[in-house]
Amino acid sequence: MEYRLLGKSGLKVSVISFGGMRIPNVSDEVAYKAVNRCIDLGINFFETAPGYGDSERKIGLSLGKRRKDVFLSTKTTICSADDFRKKIEEQLKRLQTDYLDFYQMWYVNSQEEFEKIIAPGGLLEGAKQAMKEGIVKHIGITTHAPNAAVRNMIASGLFESITLYHNLFKQEYAEEIKLAHEKNMGIVVMGPLNGGMLGDKGEKFNFLQRGKAKSNAVGALRWLVGNPEISTAIVGIDTAEHAEEVVLAGDMYDDIKNTNDVELLSKEAEKFRNVSKDGCCTWCQYCKECPAGLNIWEIMDLHTVMKIYGTLDTCKEKYSKMPKKADLCTECGKCNERCPQHLKPMEQLKKAHQIFN
Ligand code: SF4
Ligand code: SF4
Repeated sequence: MEYRLLGKSGLKVSVISFGGMRIPNVSDEVAYKAVNRCIDLGINFFETAPGYGDSERKIGLSLGKRRKDVFLSTKTTICSADDFRKKIEEQLKRLQTDYLDFYQMWYVNSQEEFEKIIAPGGLLEGAKQAMKEGIVKHIGITTHAPNAAVRNMIASGLFESITLYHNLFKQEYAEEIKLAHEKNMGIVVMGPLNGGMLGDKGEKFNFLQRGKAKSNAVGALRWLVGNPEISTAIVGIDTAEHAEEVVLAGDMYDDIKNTNDVELLSKEAEKFRNVSKDGCCTWCQYCKECPAGLNIWEIMDLHTVMKIYGTLDTCKEKYSKMPKKADLCTECGKCNERCPQHLKPMEQLKKAHQIFN
């Protein structure tokens, strides 16, 4: 496993890290094995959030005495400094720790939201106070904001790391990654497999298997590892077997650095990028409070699968079995507001219904 500096923080983190968004789907026992296998394999950066179901509790439970062997990072959305205090105390309890190596200002998705968190009495003030007390060691920011706002976040110099969505299919923040690197910020990549899509075992993505990469997921991660500006890529790991697969990319910088694979793979991925731009749902489920009770991401996923693989009959059949279909949408627009990928799910659901019904 290769270790890279997480910007000015001075922490040396594994280039492949553990994202806690998938472990709510598995039992405590499976989560325990996944977390501990990751540590055995050299992963030392663990990232989670209070919004990922019971992820914080499971990570705390699984780390046990090995807490000191890893860097632990969690986050919270916009709130006041006072509310932050209450939240972090609960988080520390769930994570069974008395300090956090990194604390992320989470989901800061516009210039206005950025201004809110840095205003007096805001989230950043609360996090800085926690830093003075030794509860938080370093502060970062995670964002899906428009490029100009992201540049302002970088230029502010207020954060030691920035977490951006970046992968072979989605490279909208490529320039901001460069800028953040020049500012000596740690660069944490979220969505390295585009919500799992790049880990698909289907033949369409077999072009990813170059050099030592023998699976699509490893090929996609190898591409990220090939960029030395990236400090670490967070992979949503939920089983020990999954850890064993993805960790292979953590040693592949030498395998890719003297090749033209970074450019070549990016070019190959171009034909899928348009589909992705229009409709690749990452299953983040930020849209889950749909008043019509729709599992928006399941419908979005079918729509994407159909566009990439052209499997209309299979998708129609799956859609017919869904208990709630897109025609129940009341057009309240909430999913459009909440979608960090700006996918306009409301409109896409309409299209999907027309195609599949
Ligand atoms: S616009 Fe439709 S799909 Fe989106 S949250 Fe509202 S009811 Fe649900
Ligand atoms: S539609 Fe958007 S908000 Fe909903 S799960 Fe997909 S990416 Fe997330």
